[in-house]
Amino acid sequence: MKRSVNEIIEKLMAVAANPGQAVKEACAKSGKQAVGIVAPYGPEEIAYAAGCLPVGLWGGQVELKRVRAYLPAFACSIMQSVVELAAAGTYDELSAVVIPAPCDTLKCIGQKWKGKCPAIHFTHPMNRKLDCANDYLTFEYQTIRTKLEAILGRKITDEALADAVLFYNHYRAVMREFTLVARDHLATISPTVRHSILKASYFMDKAEYTKDIEDLIYALRRAGPENWNGKRVVLTGITFEPRELLEILEFYHVAVTGDDIAQESRQFRTDAPYHKSPLQSLAAQWQNQQGCSLAFDPFKSRVHDLVDLVRATQADGLVVGLMKFCDPEEYDVPILMEAFEKAGIPLLCIEVDQQTTAFEQIKTRLQGFVEAL
Ligand code: SF4
Repeated sequence: MKRSVNEIIEKLMAVAANPGQAVKEACAKSGKQAVGIVAPYGPEEIAYAAGCLPVGLWGGQVELKRVRAYLPAFACSIMQSVVELAAAGTYDELSAVVIPAPCDTLKCIGQKWKGKCPAIHFTHPMNRKLDCANDYLTFEYQTIRTKLEAILGRKITDEALADAVLFYNHYRAVMREFTLVARDHLATISPTVRHSILKASYFMDKAEYTKDIEDLIYALRRAGPENWNGKRVVLTGITFEPRELLEILEFYHVAVTGDDIAQESRQFRTDAPYHKSPLQSLAAQWQNQQGCSLAFDPFKSRVHDLVDLVRATQADGLVVGLMKFCDPEEYDVPILMEAFEKAGIPLLCIEVDQQTTAFEQIKTRLQGFVEAL
């Protein structure tokens, strides 16, 4: 029997609100071990092919106590939370954790992992369009595969990898479809609901999660499009948490028609193309990644992609959630501001701080922005 929109949304929101419990339940149900993938990009497919549950580590609202011994106060807010949670033992249940290094902060995190589970570091090449970038990243992924095999005590076959790459391409296509359908249901798929639905993907078996999203798309289409008379914005940044930020948007009757957030659409907008082997396909996916502050792009196509996204989704403006002390994102902001001014599209930049509990200033700025739209 087909489930209702509310049933599926309630399930996914419960997962997003209780990640630890969701991961435990998913592991108990499937008999799988969990492998952490530190934000923003890791080859989840390798962990999936190993028969594990890949779990996304994107920090969270946590009081900082232990992290001061390991990171300076000017390290980005999300990694302060990740290291705090690691040092507190939150990730100790994981069988391993995979840590990328596309920025200076993550290079340090890889060297200073404070959790008890083994850490596997790797580096993305930044001159991504060269052929040798594919060779290099394939080698890095092969190293992750070999280290995971040693930790888990089992082989990751080429066949399992090929299946995982194909399955993840399917998952990504379903997610892209969901974001399109969600635009016709801005009352039901409010900013917090949209974010929670996308966030739940990090704590569930992807097969079960993908089925839930397919059912949700079906149920939304059956329900028919909704009217929306509030304002519409596109969001960009690394993450748009804490949740209170999205609640402020809802308070002012603002819907999210699209996003370019690393925790959300950047995860599924680029497929792994057919290449010579599954690992080379995964490497080619990074080479094809476009419009992300972390993936070197001398042409800054992100700027034009965002202008196009705002226009295509008939949004009234762009809200940049600038992660506190995130250099790669900070470099893009002046370029974005200039391009949006030229395009005549309103833009608001707010700071995202996972540790903050004071939202009044942001609320006032968002109120002013919405009133001016
Ligand atoms: S938020 Fe920015 S600085 Fe921090 S880990 Fe991510 S990319 Fe690096």
